[in-house]
Amino acid sequence: MSQRINENPMWISGALCAQTGPDVFFPEQGETAELAKQICSGCPYKDPCLQYALDHDERFGVWGGLDQAELRRLRGRAA
Ligand code: SF4
Repeated sequence: MSQRINENPMWISGALCAQTGPDVFFPEQGETAELAKQICSGCPYKDPCLQYALDHDERFGVWGGLDQAELRRLRGRAA
């Protein structure tokens, strides 16, 4: 995920996805996001990552353990 964040928040270099290929976090249509979500489940930066995605209106990929459909639903509840 480190390549998808332009602002390089301080936490990103220690995130588990920084040690993984970014493709895992952007599953193609019909592919599962389960591997990315599994990685996120052990990441100590889930909360700031999710907050970053919400603050920056990220629409694609897995952030903070949520896939894009789950992020969309969360945004819908917050609106
Ligand atoms: S929660 Fe997932 S996407 Fe977010 S920084 Fe951690 S591993 Fe990366």
